[in-house]
Amino acid sequence: MDNQYLWHPYTQHKTAATPIAITRGEGALLWDEDGKQYIDAIASWWVNPFGHSNKHIADSIYKQLTTLEHVLFGGFTHQPAVQLAQRLMAILPDNQRKLFFSDNGSTAVEIAIKASLQYFYNKGEKRTKIIAFENGFHGDTFAAMAASGISFFTEAFRGSLIDVQRIPVPVKCREQDSYDALQELVATGAYAAFIFEPLVQGAAGMVMYEPETLDNLIAICKQHGVFTIADEVMTGFGKTGKNFACDYLSQQPDMMCLSKALTGGTIPMAITTFTQQIFDGFYDTDVNKALFHGHTFTANPTGCAAALASLDLLLTDSMQANIQRVNSRHLAFKAVIENHPKVKTVRVLGVILALEIVREGNEDYYGDFRNKLYDFFISKGVIMRPVGNIVYVLPPYIITDDLLATIYKTIEEAIDTIN
Ligand SMILES: *Cc1c(COP(=O)(O)O)cnc(C)c1O
Repeated sequence: MDNQYLWHPYTQHKTAATPIAITRGEGALLWDEDGKQYIDAIASWWVNPFGHSNKHIADSIYKQLTTLEHVLFGGFTHQPAVQLAQRLMAILPDNQRKLFFSDNGSTAVEIAIKASLQYFYNKGEKRTKIIAFENGFHGDTFAAMAASGISFFTEAFRGSLIDVQRIPVPVKCREQDSYDALQELVATGAYAAFIFEPLVQGAAGMVMYEPETLDNLIAICKQHGVFTIADEVMTGFGKTGKNFACDYLSQQPDMMCLSKALTGGTIPMAITTFTQQIFDGFYDTDVNKALFHGHTFTANPTGCAAALASLDLLLTDSMQANIQRVNSRHLAFKAVIENHPKVKTVRVLGVILALEIVREGNEDYYGDFRNKLYDFFISKGVIMRPVGNIVYVLPPYIITDDLLATIYKTIEEAIDTIN
């Protein structure tokens, strides 16, 4: 019945398989309507660190729903938002001072970009362009899409996007290219901000680069008054082994975008955070200088309650130990698999493992090889979304060693059987 009315994301309905109807989830497992079990090896698009149907989060949501489910945030406030702000400020980089709520990763990015552009507009400075990495992904709304560099996502809208220039990602041996390209752009004085996925480019296939190089890039921006936006929508809340990828840096970004794991994968919610300097650029007796942005469900109390409960879980010793455990399992698998003749490279950071399979040509993002891999994993009861020839694992942190072993074994089988 799904195909009667529903239109799915990133889906060509003419060729796509019938979607699998999931009826239940628990921990790292999901079950479909026929009772078949699946391991959620990608935490349902990177949102679910603590397992499906988590009781602590569910109880907190229920309590909030039966106390105050929602109230408008224009002219009103509530304890869940205030508490969440206090608790996030305690773990965010210490230059972050203000926090703006929205509903998803794309809007968190949209708000950061709008704030960057309006900051300079308010000051009467002409900085109207943005800098981003090649192959970055920042979401599907217009400014976020403009900042994203995976071309087939955005090709049809090319003429309607804000001006974004791209620099190379500073992966090994390209560091200097990246610095040089950034230097050249910032020297023009035309750029308001540089947006990046810190340390790991998720949608590009978990492409990783070193903290020192990002520190250097941020320092270059600071010298030229260009704001830096750390899009931690994917990396936030423990994925890289620390609370935030920015915790690996000595520099601090001016803005951060958070979503995905913020509510433990339960309720759509996002946050953009800012330094005092940026907030002050809007603080004026002139109402026109305010940030005129908002969403109906801004700071939804139920979402805030879910985020508070998620922070409870994230910061426990046992959850931190789970993150370290998944990381050591990944490293052990890497040591075994990286010399396989069909494996090009293996990357690990925190709970993220990415493996590139040797192929002769370039693989399309959603090409045949990728589809064969995807179907193979599904047939084995493992939910993965390979990107071209890249297979990655980003499981809920609570996944058991046994389930991880099953994922690794299935990856080995896939490498040996899929051509
Ligand atoms: C997923 C993602 C987004 C977009 O988030 P949505 O909630 O899908 O809009 C933005 N930035 C990064 C780094 C992401 O991984």
